[in-house]
Amino acid sequence: MMKERTLHHDLDAREMTRLRAFQCIREAGQISRTDIAKALNSSPATVTSACGALLEAGLIRDVEAERTDATQRGRPRVMLEVNGEALAVAGIKVARHAIHVTVVDFKGVEIGSHLSPLAASCMPAEALVMAVRQALDDACEKLGLSLDAVAGVALGLPGFINGETGFMHWSSSVRERNVDFMPLFARHLPCPAFLENDANLVAKAEQFFGAGRGLRNFLVVTIEHGVGMGIVQDGQLYRGERGCGAEFGHMKVQFEGAVCQCGQRGCLEAYVGDYALIRDASVGRQGDAYKSLTDILDAARAGDRLSGEVLERASKVLGVALASLVNLFDPEHIVIARLRPRFDEAHTQAMLDALKRNTVQVDAPLPGITVRNLDQKMWARGAAAHGIERVSILKIRARGDQDAA
Ligand SMILES: [Zn+2]
Repeated sequence: MMKERTLHHDLDAREMTRLRAFQCIREAGQISRTDIAKALNSSPATVTSACGALLEAGLIRDVEAERTDATQRGRPRVMLEVNGEALAVAGIKVARHAIHVTVVDFKGVEIGSHLSPLAASCMPAEALVMAVRQALDDACEKLGLSLDAVAGVALGLPGFINGETGFMHWSSSVRERNVDFMPLFARHLPCPAFLENDANLVAKAEQFFGAGRGLRNFLVVTIEHGVGMGIVQDGQLYRGERGCGAEFGHMKVQFEGAVCQCGQRGCLEAYVGDYALIRDASVGRQGDAYKSLTDILDAARAGDRLSGEVLERASKVLGVALASLVNLFDPEHIVIARLRPRFDEAHTQAMLDALKRNTVQVDAPLPGITVRNLDQKMWARGAAAHGIERVSILKIRARGDQDAA
């Protein structure tokens, strides 16, 4: 049963080899058994046996390599690739006012996506899972896909979430604290489902499709209503012992400072999250508070002094906090992904200047930095990538149990 078992940790050595071979094939696109053995530093016999199990489970297939040289003779080289059509996986991101569903095939190629409005930005956990089910049903109907074709669902939520066990300690989207989502998933969803912190999913998306491809150590910082982070170390997501590490947004930047949505004071998020900017820029406006970040940007451009100052201070605070990340992790690369209207170049520059000024000085270049606008689909694509990984683990384990029986 999935409930008590965490996913990675109970694979035996043989299953782990199968998983690593599968990941190797997925990353390569097409690869020969010999090259897998080289990449995994494993014997050809071990790889052949692992691939045999993956072929039987239908997760991969043999293909003839395309000839690069027309004069080549002899037998075509047999390569392996992920069996894309074998399974579909849904990646789902719960945002404040919407549920985004992206359905991909097993190669990660998008089949289609769907957006469902969400009645409230904070709901009881069970009502939220039922809304997710409705969004999944609607997505399948729109895409002309049978619900049976969906082999797994990965759900991204903001907050303190143990992605290994599906336990949510706290989320700004959920009314209760301390919810085990696994029984709710079992009750309302038609297939295996996995819960993950949403910033971790953006890190997955960067690793699969974006600036993190091929990198072993990188950080992804997401900035929207709140601030999140995903840490990839040695190619794996780093989660911490309780599964709630990487809470960059709740790093304290001010002793007994502004109240954060987590209930504590002085968190980074309470200075740079959307809600913090709206709060600070609306001081003195009484009944005429700003509704969104776009309003504040417009006001700043129109010469409103307070809006301009709030944006500039937030950019500097963020830059200093990012410098602390560089000082702590010394990553290869940092992706700063903002789900917000485009900032003026001056704000981005203020952030980067503060970052550079506060990074420990050594005679080596700073890590690469990508600043991008985060489109909502990136979260859902990351969720789908995560779902592919999780479903492949389940299939590999089911195969292992069959072998043992
Ligand atoms: Zn906080």
